[in-house]
Amino acid sequence: MPDKEISGKTKICALIGDPVEHTMSPVMHNAAYKKLGLDYVYVPFRVSPEQLAAAVDGLRALNVCGFNVTIPHKVSIIPMLDGLDPLAEKVGAVNTVVNNDGELRGYNTDADGFLKAMLEREVEPAGKNVVVLGAGGAARAVTYVLADRGAGLTILNRQEELDWAENIAELISEDFGKVVRVLELRDEYLAEALQIADILVNATSVGMSPAGDESPVPAELLKNSLIVFDVVYNPINTRLLNEAKAAGAQTISGIDMLAWQGALAFEKWTGQAAPIDLMKKEAVKMLESHED
Ligand code: NAP
Repeated sequence: MPDKEISGKTKICALIGDPVEHTMSPVMHNAAYKKLGLDYVYVPFRVSPEQLAAAVDGLRALNVCGFNVTIPHKVSIIPMLDGLDPLAEKVGAVNTVVNNDGELRGYNTDADGFLKAMLEREVEPAGKNVVVLGAGGAARAVTYVLADRGAGLTILNRQEELDWAENIAELISEDFGKVVRVLELRDEYLAEALQIADILVNATSVGMSPAGDESPVPAELLKNSLIVFDVVYNPINTRLLNEAKAAGAQTISGIDMLAWQGALAFEKWTGQAAPIDLMKKEAVKMLESHED
């Protein structure tokens, strides 16, 4: 039960996804509303793909102030919205929706959240060589903002066809006039790409709980001059991050990106600066309680 009074004035924010049982967004947002004394509440809804259109119409009809979108709806929701922020349009995925008097506009705060998490650690990707692993939704968001910021990019993905990675590379070349190298995710190509890399980003789901003993990168390829960012946030310290730390590398966990994507959504819905440290603390607390 929320420890606040809900009234006719309470503003409602939501999450739609399937599943939503383990989401950390409610604890992050509700703690932030409480800290700032905002009359808001955040509730998760499990919505199947078949019910997505009905759920979006329902959220509009119920006049919620906004909602987050998670797997498996980040792409399929796009035609159901009334407008898209240019970054969400480029990335081709939406994780945050703002309701402006019945007009639903989609944003991608995963992409900006990733960049904020880097800059917060004083990691500036402009002019750096960045190796990105993966070509799914997270990889697309990450590579687009990195290219926009002025990084040089190599993408490695496991699919033999590499269709998705090439598709991202083409988009970046059109928008920024940059050549992006696309390679198959194999140890020999990875070794070569990492020789000149400043930053390595794991944007695959490899290493995510319950397969926390896996890593997409052999430990011997990690070195102390690398900055390693793992977008996986469960566990907080993935095998990749632990091995990178052991090699003396600077590391950034996906939990920072998670907290920032939430904070940026919070700011769009409330117009207030988000208490990012608190939001991150709540997410960490919830993850650690699941590890027990
Ligand atoms: P997705 O669209 O399903 O993409 C998954 C990617 O991982 C694909 O490139 C896939 O390669 C690759 N992959 C999966 N298993 C692999 C394996 N065994 N070996 C090599 N590559 C493999 O998922 P997503 O939405 O991008 O999410 C990826 C990860 O990012 C998840 O762990 C998710 O929780 C995390 N994430 C974190 C945040 C955050 O805020 N920190 C935000 C968004 C996502 P193929 O193309 O070959 O299938």
